[in-house]
Amino acid sequence: MNRLKQRILIDSEAPNKSTGIVNGRSSNILNWDDVRFSWAYPKYKRMLGNFWTPFEINMAKDIKQFPTLSSREQESFLKIIGLLALLDSVQTDYAGKVADYLTDSSLNALMIILAQQEVVHNHSYSYVLSSIVSKKKQDEVFDFWKNDPILKKRNEFITNGYKGFVESPTIENLLKSIIYDVILEGLFFYSGFAFFYNLARNQKMVATSTMINYINRDEQLHVGLFEKIYKEVLNENPDYQTDELRKFGQDAFKQAALLEIEWGRDIIGAHVEGLLMSDLEDYIKFMANKRAKQLGFEEPFQGYKTNPLKWIIAYQEVDRGKTDFFEQKSRQYTKTSDANGFDEL
Ligand code: ZN
Ligand code: ZN
Repeated sequence: MNRLKQRILIDSEAPNKSTGIVNGRSSNILNWDDVRFSWAYPKYKRMLGNFWTPFEINMAKDIKQFPTLSSREQESFLKIIGLLALLDSVQTDYAGKVADYLTDSSLNALMIILAQQEVVHNHSYSYVLSSIVSKKKQDEVFDFWKNDPILKKRNEFITNGYKGFVESPTIENLLKSIIYDVILEGLFFYSGFAFFYNLARNQKMVATSTMINYINRDEQLHVGLFEKIYKEVLNENPDYQTDELRKFGQDAFKQAALLEIEWGRDIIGAHVEGLLMSDLEDYIKFMANKRAKQLGFEEPFQGYKTNPLKWIIAYQEVDRGKTDFFEQKSRQYTKTSDANGFDEL
């Protein structure tokens, strides 16, 4: 097994623009005008444009509303937060571990911002829980991942996939771990998101859903970033583009979707008003197909080419400033755009 080379701290003999995405050489100096990939800087700008913190969100209404939700809704709400908290915690660390092996200072920079955003996501879960439940309950929610058997099975699927890379960092294991990454950020979050958007369209827990929407927007960029990294690694190392990898990817998305459906039945199932399990199941298969295709795999589920939860599109694809679904705050961090850029300030 060929272990990947770690990026070195400083190399005065190497160029700023690295010689390879992995196993390359780079001075490790970051000059955005002298980087290997032309997509890195636009991605950086978009990631910065998403900047937000939970402090912007006023929880007052949600605090009043939470006790009026049905007990099943409350339970699902907490279980989904518990799940997201585990995934985002692991994700923060995974991003840093991948970054160590990307021999390009700009990609390292993007991974640091990604990890920072995962920290904010985790903060938002503590922020929501500390508003609506006791400290004791909050601690319990953060321990769900250890105690709930269905949740455990679903999470171990990802964490074992990540472990393979962490314990043996080879090109093959990096590629496989990115498949798990896209499952985490691009599939496993999505039925949780659907649950919160469904509450929001029934005028429930809108502040929490606003936060979920911000997280969703970040995750869309993260999936895009890992998709780029995956494709560039293969581009530069075409020997790894094998039928075995394609089969592995297709199977992983299939297995992930089935785990997600099993979990959805348990957590959302028949007890959430306005969200049919059959629709959710179709939605999960649709998302699994979409993500598999993004990485160049055959779709694991025949059919399922359109989104069965039509209403969700309006919540998910929210373009800042065009919507009044959520309590859109004045978001001073995001005022810098091309039309109103640093240069004019
Ligand atoms: Zn996240
Ligand atoms: Zn993410």
